[in-house]
Amino acid sequence: MKSPDISITPDRFDAVMFDLDGVLTSTARIHAASWKQMFDDFLADWEGAGKPGRTDPFELHADYLRYVDGKPRYDGVRSFLASRGIDLPEGTPDDPPDAVTIGALGNRKDALVNEAIAAGRVEAYPESTALVEQVRARGLKTAVVSSSRHCRDVLRAARLAPLFDAVVDGNLVEAEHLAGKPAPDTFLRAAQMLGIPPERAVVIEDAGAGVQAGHDGRFGLVIGIDRGDNRDALLRAGADRVVSNLGELLR
Ligand SMILES: [Mg+2]
Repeated sequence: MKSPDISITPDRFDAVMFDLDGVLTSTARIHAASWKQMFDDFLADWEGAGKPGRTDPFELHADYLRYVDGKPRYDGVRSFLASRGIDLPEGTPDDPPDAVTIGALGNRKDALVNEAIAAGRVEAYPESTALVEQVRARGLKTAVVSSSRHCRDVLRAARLAPLFDAVVDGNLVEAEHLAGKPAPDTFLRAAQMLGIPPERAVVIEDAGAGVQAGHDGRFGLVIGIDRGDNRDALLRAGADRVVSNLGELLR
């Protein structure tokens, strides 16, 4: 099979739509550090109170990958505590941060993530920023399409906000009752905001759900970014091409 032409030029396309986390920015490090800070504070208090269970500090790499990475917030709390033989009441997602429940610990971690984003501790992938600048210099429009409610804060913190003509984020999804990825609706909404037909736009995504959204929305070109062992899944989801970083698209 001949590999598809991936040059992003104005004769072929009018716009490029980027997913946020994993494509433009990485917040993985913020999440890991926030888990560690929250658990270490909790474990110190737990030990101080003489309660049963292992209370040595959270291991940034091993514990992160084994117990919390990729899991919903409260499942991560439950799974790590179980590994330490610590049993807490479930509580609810509305518990205040000073409660000692699964819900409260999850909320403490979320608050730390929000603080880190507000403090600007967000990293943009330099080669992704370079691609956004290059396509804009060629006269193409750009959009960010993300499920995150923190999207605008992250863009501001990473100093990327001025580089986009349209933003479809978690807040707009809620306000307009849009179907999230893998449905194509958020990308189609961005195309509508930019005033261009989907076949004249490129979609760039690192998640299978996002690639599927681009494919099902019949966008002109769907590029997957494999940030680690995800290549086959992205191709199966309908990516026309998978790259390991956006520097490969700079021409
Ligand atoms: Mg992503």
